Amino acid sequence: MPELSAKTQGFTDSVIRRMTRICMECDAVNLSQGFPDFDPPREILERLAEVSYEDFHQYSITWGAQNFRQALAEKQARFMGRAINPETDIVVTCGSTEAMMAAMMSVVNPGDKVIVFSPFYENYGADAILSGAKPIYVPLHPPEFGFDPDELEAAFRQRPKALILCNPSNPSGKVFTYEELEFIASLVEKYDAFVITDEVYEHIVFEPYKHTYFASLPGMWERTLSCSSLSKTYSITGWRLGYIIAPANIIDVAKKVHDFLTVGAAAPLQEAAVTGLRFGDDYYADLARKYTNKRNLFLKGLDELNIAHTVPQGAYYVLLDISEFGFESDLEFCELLARDVGVGAVPGSSFFREPVNHLIRLHFAKKDETLLAALSRLENMRAKIPCRK
Ligand code: GLN
Repeated sequence: MPELSAKTQGFTDSVIRRMTRICMECDAVNLSQGFPDFDPPREILERLAEVSYEDFHQYSITWGAQNFRQALAEKQARFMGRAINPETDIVVTCGSTEAMMAAMMSVVNPGDKVIVFSPFYENYGADAILSGAKPIYVPLHPPEFGFDPDELEAAFRQRPKALILCNPSNPSGKVFTYEELEFIASLVEKYDAFVITDEVYEHIVFEPYKHTYFASLPGMWERTLSCSSLSKTYSITGWRLGYIIAPANIIDVAKKVHDFLTVGAAAPLQEAAVTGLRFGDDYYADLARKYTNKRNLFLKGLDELNIAHTVPQGAYYVLLDISEFGFESDLEFCELLARDVGVGAVPGSSFFREPVNHLIRLHFAKKDETLLAALSRLENMRAKIPCRK
């Protein structure tokens, strides 16, 4: 038999999604793969029901239904503080997963370098391999997960084609400050690179932190492919609605890549989601408040259990320190946690370039009762998982 593709031998399946399958097998409270267990906004669901009887069952325009792009352009223009042309500056994708992949394929040639901050969302590694890019990893240093300016400039000296910026950041919860983003922008300009953002947690930011869209920095619109999705903002991760926003010359290329990858996102879902895109500012303030309460509830519970953890500034993840258990393999720890304690988590090693085995990631995008159930199970963690030290 001939060999299968060499590219795919460079990575395993997604550890995040594997943990969800393990949780389903052993009925664990799944705080591994980040998705809510509460309902999307009622108005969106009501519109979805209506849409099923309307004329939205065939392909939409490949780069996104006109109505959806119009509503998205208006919403993002409001938050990004600049005009966005729905005809030329947007391509609608199947989730931000496709947006990131299409953005990478639009920008890099095989052999080009891309800067990735570590820890990073695991898809970026696979995106780099599939598009033939070579990642240069730059560490974000705990507890604040800031970068060292010299380390970042050293990476830029290797002449990367692009930098990938996840902000607010998964899994660290870091929200980059305006000054940090300005510094990145100065290097992007100096070394002539692009920035591909992943801003899916743009509306999940905790006071006093603020989200700055990288494309809104002076001179950065021309160089930025802003990727995001509706998954987290409207609690519809299964709808797979994402997008790239960028200047027309970049979107022209991204449209072609997207067209041949997937043709288009689901037409009825785009139409139903327009209802959400038309929500007023209150919706986003409420969302941030709701997640702030969940974060506070969950972190307080972890504190009461005396489990050391990160304090996220945005997004909905927290890293727990499991050093006291002395495990060599954080994957094995997570399997025991799911099977014997009944809580699903993701091994930290799947996010770090550095050899890290003492962290696990949990998320708090769940009903309060689910979070409380997880916390009460975690009470037994020390009794049920024997220490290996
Ligand atoms: N972003 C989510 C996480 O990190 C998962 C996204 C996905 O599985 N597509 O858990």
